[in-house]
Amino acid sequence: MDDWQNVIRKRDFPMIARGNCRGKSTVYLDNAATTQCPRPVLWAMEDYWSLRHANVHRGVYCLSARATEALEETRQLTADFLRVSRDEIVFTSGATDSANMLAEAFALGELKRGDLVLATEMEHNSNLLPWLEACRRTGAVLELVKIREDGELDMEDLYRRLEKKPRLLAVTAVSNVLGTVNPLSQIVSSAHSAGAAVAVDAAQAMRCDLPELKSPDCDFLFFSGHKLMGPTGIGVLYAKAEWIDRLPPVRYGGGMLRELRIPEPEYESGVGKFEAGTLNLSGIAGLGAALEYLQVVGRRRIAAYERELLRHAEERLSSIDGLRILGAPKRRSGVLSFLLPPLQAYDAAVLLDKKGFALRSGRHCADALHARLGISGSVRLSPAFYNTGEELDRFGDALEQIAALSRTVGAGKHG
Ligand code: PLP
Repeated sequence: MDDWQNVIRKRDFPMIARGNCRGKSTVYLDNAATTQCPRPVLWAMEDYWSLRHANVHRGVYCLSARATEALEETRQLTADFLRVSRDEIVFTSGATDSANMLAEAFALGELKRGDLVLATEMEHNSNLLPWLEACRRTGAVLELVKIREDGELDMEDLYRRLEKKPRLLAVTAVSNVLGTVNPLSQIVSSAHSAGAAVAVDAAQAMRCDLPELKSPDCDFLFFSGHKLMGPTGIGVLYAKAEWIDRLPPVRYGGGMLRELRIPEPEYESGVGKFEAGTLNLSGIAGLGAALEYLQVVGRRRIAAYERELLRHAEERLSSIDGLRILGAPKRRSGVLSFLLPPLQAYDAAVLLDKKGFALRSGRHCADALHARLGISGSVRLSPAFYNTGEELDRFGDALEQIAALSRTVGAGKHG
């Protein structure tokens, strides 16, 4: 374990350092689902609730002004994190909410019957179903770009479909099952040449320190705070300035109205038009603290360490007899999914839980991907920078024991 990692583990992540749940040993390896909040994030939220709680924008009094400043500070921090303008950052309740808002706005303002929208076979349902529904509502058509056996996006298939001049391509930066890091620059420039806008799901990508996500070329990008050491219930939708101007609001209410004219009200022009009602202010405080925390620990250091952890895990798991790792992409980040036949994924996860390892089984909300691979589920390992190589070694040993046991039972059944 590196020194910095030892320090942050003990100081900032009590649940990880304690390593047990109801007295039972637990190594948390489900970070693709959600990450733990470090203490500074918890403090920021406590500070907000105990000393700063007031509604924003609407008050002339000091507390309200201060709450508004705090909100705008987090907007600036988020913009700095992505190296974009603060006028392009909309707060939502999470990646799913961001994608739904975007698809609704697209359906309302952009799509018409016969238009084509592309998503990919590796999308999380959150970047697929909103587009499917937008298409159903408008009479547009949704097609899925294929993936290859190795878990890479099939670029030839993408180029072929781009020839049909789609209006938008919805694509994930990193697959939440295969860990594939998609070649975003190439994808975005090809889509733009074909006249398509690009919506990037960065939910799994924000800790990877990808160069493509700094001053991104895409039109839209979204993520959730809780996969980035922040709290649940807060997310971000980045939209390029021209789209902020062009897209219509899809939520209506307080804070987004400029002038009430019936029947044609005038709405705010900037990001405010997408932020109707009271935002999750403590979540925004937590998100701001999480972004600062990642900067202080070091985004590059975190990404490099997590890459090394995953490489270590892949090497260890590859040596287990009968274990099949899904995909072999050139660049893998964050997650590694596998099958351990004859065990079902669910059973493998239950046995791993009994041995003290918390990780997820199922389709991971990537139904199109599992259908494409012809499997009903997988087990997903997703370490974060507070995990250690030693934990992954123990995990590998536990898997080996489970694999051996299932072979014995399988042989007994057939013998
Ligand atoms: N997109 C991807 C790639 C994800 O992994 C997830 C969550 O697992 C989401 C979107 C949805 O995130 P949330 O549930 O925070 O809205």
